[in-house]
Amino acid sequence: MKAVYTERHRSHDPQFFLVRGVVKRTTEQPERADRLLAGLNAGKHQLIEPTLFGQGPRARVHSAEYLSFLDEAWEAWSALGDSGAEMIANMHPVRNAATYPTHIVGRLGWHTVDTGCPIGPGTFAAACAATDVATTAAQMVLDGEDAVYALCRPPGHHAYRDLAGGFCFLNNSAIAAAHLRLKHERVAILDVDVHHGNGTQGIFYERPDVLTVSIHADPAFYYPYVWGYAHERGAGAGLGANFNIPLPLKTGDDGYLQALDVAAKRIKAFAPGALVVALGLDASEHDPLAGLAVTTPGFKRIGVALAQIGLPTVLVQEGGYLSDILGQNLTAVLAGFEEAR
Ligand SMILES: [Zn+2]
Repeated sequence: MKAVYTERHRSHDPQFFLVRGVVKRTTEQPERADRLLAGLNAGKHQLIEPTLFGQGPRARVHSAEYLSFLDEAWEAWSALGDSGAEMIANMHPVRNAATYPTHIVGRLGWHTVDTGCPIGPGTFAAACAATDVATTAAQMVLDGEDAVYALCRPPGHHAYRDLAGGFCFLNNSAIAAAHLRLKHERVAILDVDVHHGNGTQGIFYERPDVLTVSIHADPAFYYPYVWGYAHERGAGAGLGANFNIPLPLKTGDDGYLQALDVAAKRIKAFAPGALVVALGLDASEHDPLAGLAVTTPGFKRIGVALAQIGLPTVLVQEGGYLSDILGQNLTAVLAGFEEAR
């Protein structure tokens, strides 16, 4: 399978991560991409450099105000003079009867849903590079490739139209889906990351043309806590086009594959022209974020099941954190996918 990758992710090297009141080093580190790359090399997948698409694909999904904020953020923050090494908001305003702020500290709060998305000097450049990776993979599928993998870093599925959160700034999977919509009337996104794809859900919540399906650890016990429940089914014209499958913590291979079977049936019933897989690998039994318990052979079975949905597919990397088998799990998913096609 062809795989799109760029070194430009390295300019985003966040440090801050607040866990139950304790500051730690973030798990979303550049080394993740090195391990994923090792997994691609082990599978002998061909690496492709992304095409530069400019702002167009990003602007289909994100607001102009938000993109301007991300572009201007670091310079405005640095100009404050007594600011920290990373941008982390000290306020997250609810927006009821609120006014869009002009001060960078206010804008930072406005556009971040949590403290899990620190912005540094190279964050916007890396996030933009990741959208080019996703868009390039989508374009290759539009041009006739059966399936393409996009090694996106930073990940994207927690990012809303105008909100960063949970390590995510620009929603690579949503951008890939919007690009596929240029040709296909209906597109489905299947999110297999251990966390609910809340940003993706939010972006398409009122749209009938993009089905969003997410399988994840039950948010009653796990991030993002306030989204990802089964009763969230879409709204307005999009009612019925959002489908959440929360799983009990520590669900293993068999339980996961059963959920994937339910998701596949739902996607086939929607009859989309193409599929985006939001491919988190953090459902692993060895992932440091410890939500579910999928094994490496389980990831291969997931790859088989994704292939059997039978659609042109863009696989977009989401989460999956440092463990000894992160790369092997990617190799396993892609091997299962290719064997079943
Ligand atoms: Zn995740």
